[in-house]
Amino acid sequence: MKTYLQLTRHNGNSPLFLAVEMSLVSTLRGTPLHVHAEGLRGTGKTTIMRSVKQFLPLITRIKDCLYNCDPGQPHCPIHKDLPQAEIAALGTEQIPVPFLEISHSAKIGTVAGSIDLGKLTNPSQPEAALLPGIIPQAHRGIIFVDEINRLADTSPEITDVLLDVMGTKPGRVQIEETGLPVVEVPVSVSVWAASNPDEEPGPLTEIRRQLSDRFDLVVPMGRPSTTEAVVDILLTNEAVKNEQSNGDRDLSPQEVKRLQKFRQDIANIADQSDLAMPEYLTNFLASIYINFNIESLRALEAITQAALLHAALRKRNQMMISDIMAVLPLVLYHRVSPATLTEIMNTVNNRMSSDEKTAYTVPPSVNKGGSSRFAQFFNRNSEKKDADTTGNDEQDGEESPPQKARYLRDALDSGVIKKEHDLS
Ligand SMILES: [Zn+2]
Repeated sequence: MKTYLQLTRHNGNSPLFLAVEMSLVSTLRGTPLHVHAEGLRGTGKTTIMRSVKQFLPLITRIKDCLYNCDPGQPHCPIHKDLPQAEIAALGTEQIPVPFLEISHSAKIGTVAGSIDLGKLTNPSQPEAALLPGIIPQAHRGIIFVDEINRLADTSPEITDVLLDVMGTKPGRVQIEETGLPVVEVPVSVSVWAASNPDEEPGPLTEIRRQLSDRFDLVVPMGRPSTTEAVVDILLTNEAVKNEQSNGDRDLSPQEVKRLQKFRQDIANIADQSDLAMPEYLTNFLASIYINFNIESLRALEAITQAALLHAALRKRNQMMISDIMAVLPLVLYHRVSPATLTEIMNTVNNRMSSDEKTAYTVPPSVNKGGSSRFAQFFNRNSEKKDADTTGNDEQDGEESPPQKARYLRDALDSGVIKKEHDLS
């Protein structure tokens, strides 16, 4: 299997790499960022999301606490009321950021939790006999749901649980048992989901609008635009299939080292304490909210959160308009019409200073100003925009992934080659 760092990045999938890295940093900082990847089968959504498991940073919890209690802020029914001295006596341990999956066959008791009636000594205090489910056990981590549109269609109960978990930051989960008081546990988890809107039962927005709205970012997965990228995806899929039957191969020492370095990078970025949003940007976002009649304040909060994370991943502590520009299509994709998004992007683009425009280097195939600059997010064909990409020597811009600048080159290549073929 390829490691996360070896997966091919191209125009169509690079926003997902960005989204999962932003979400992981945000999760480490204690604020969930929910991400939904939408796209056809074979675009590698689940491979990218699941391979984040290879570099999950460590968190410290009270020793053996299934709810991953932070020793400084214990929240679980067992530890929340204990005096600090007793907590200290329990000791601590380090575990990787939890990454758990909810499958389609999961039962509500497995997902939320249940009460062990055998352990129940005092029915007015069912907390003492709780068996935490997948969600409380993923506290301070990530929950992954594949084919969330199908889950929303077939399991309304589990969908309701997700709505509670994602409704506030942190969220909550309620554990119920007939005849006993409901127990509520706070949870802070980022929900990652994937779906294919073209397959039954259709797009999540149509199945359960409310759940779709709870995602901070929706990442439309685009098609790769070069033969090289397609071959690469086919080979990766084949390798994944082989490993499912033969078991994972061991990573080489070099691969392990690279992943460890990346994990440390992510942890360092999350530790950065002085991320700031300049006041003029707050005002600017407020004016966009009013002028474009954006439905929910949740969208505005998501733009702010994501843009700060985008700046952090670029190792800056000050947010710039280019950060807003980079995250807008992901935050607004499921919230406004493509026409409105185009208008908003143009407004933001006009506000960018020329300095920032230089820093905000976009792939040549989409760098034509106006609405076409973010065409990749809507899978629009970029063929017609290749006229002056020839000789446009692109520097490694801030939109390029930290490890590889490959997709810039891919975009350039595809444009040039197509042009020459057309002429001959
Ligand atoms: Zn605990």
